[in-house]
Amino acid sequence: MSRFLSQEAACLAPYTPGEQPQDQQYIKLNTNESPFPPSPKVLKTISRAELMKLDLYPDPTCGPLRRAIADYYGLRPENVLAGNGSDEVLAFAFRAFCGKGKGVAYADITYGFYRSQAAFFGLEPAIVPLREDLTLDVGDYMEFSGTIVLANPNAPTGIALPRTDIQRLLDADPDRLVIVDEAYVDFGAESCAPLLFRYDNLLVVQTMSKSRSLAGGRLGFALGSPSLIEDMERVRYSFNPYDVDRLAMMAGAAAMEDRSYFDACCASIRQTRAWTVGALEALGFTVLPSQANFIFAKSGQIPGGELYRLLKENGILVRWFDQERIRDYVRITIGSMEQMEALVDQVDQILQAW
Ligand SMILES: *Cc1c(COP(=O)(O)O)cnc(C)c1O
Repeated sequence: MSRFLSQEAACLAPYTPGEQPQDQQYIKLNTNESPFPPSPKVLKTISRAELMKLDLYPDPTCGPLRRAIADYYGLRPENVLAGNGSDEVLAFAFRAFCGKGKGVAYADITYGFYRSQAAFFGLEPAIVPLREDLTLDVGDYMEFSGTIVLANPNAPTGIALPRTDIQRLLDADPDRLVIVDEAYVDFGAESCAPLLFRYDNLLVVQTMSKSRSLAGGRLGFALGSPSLIEDMERVRYSFNPYDVDRLAMMAGAAAMEDRSYFDACCASIRQTRAWTVGALEALGFTVLPSQANFIFAKSGQIPGGELYRLLKENGILVRWFDQERIRDYVRITIGSMEQMEALVDQVDQILQAW
């Protein structure tokens, strides 16, 4: 820490990203990236001609990208905000919809970035514990009057809420905004996007990092009423109107348009997930019911931290959270079938030696 650090920055709670080792070749099952490359249509759209245009600023309105996203959901471009990853989109939403007299609530066990965002904007969040079985009860949020942030499916549990539960929250108070972070929705949960036609107190946030194989492209988006989107653009234009670069914009539009590739990737992940759950259960693991491209699993035999460490020694990276209530678990990204076979093999060997 330098002596120049501001008091505000001293109060931050920076997010700890999953390891991204650049030296050794690991089987990487720790950051929920896709095991598949981007759609072939993405590769085709990044032409030499497009590269030659990097001397010019990108379109700050993200026109074609927003249109492609809107088309996918049957919405209008006015219902869409695009940003540099959904982490940034969430930051815009936190700034736009939380502040003095407008609190924010989220679960005790959920995506760690909400805590970082809350600190960044000087908010004092209401932390709402999940039930004993790590499921979320929307009833626990009914009395809260500020903005509610839910990850659905939740991370790192993978457990999804039915859309009707979120509808109960939206109905309970039309003057309260509910932000639903659907980073993993494409792997089997119900999106709230269709509810946007009926509710203007709903903001849906999604990312292209997982189901659309574009984690390195940094693209996320929000779906909501035109006035919610306008409020977020106000924040975006106060921070970085050129946050989505030219190449990412082209890539994102192409990825949204290639539905068959997207459907095939998601179907494959679901199939591999089912196989992995079965194989780990056969090894004595308890696996939470996941609708995401990862599973949250605990062994009755070996502590989560030890399993993480031994897997890493053997070239496989998973994620372990040194956090109350979930220390026994590891979070394992669903990769390719070969990667999951290697994982199950290693886990089997580790348990035998333990
Ligand atoms: C991965 C993830 C995001 C952020 O993804 P970006 O790469 O920033 O788009 C947001 N929310 C949850 C719950 C995530 O797991």
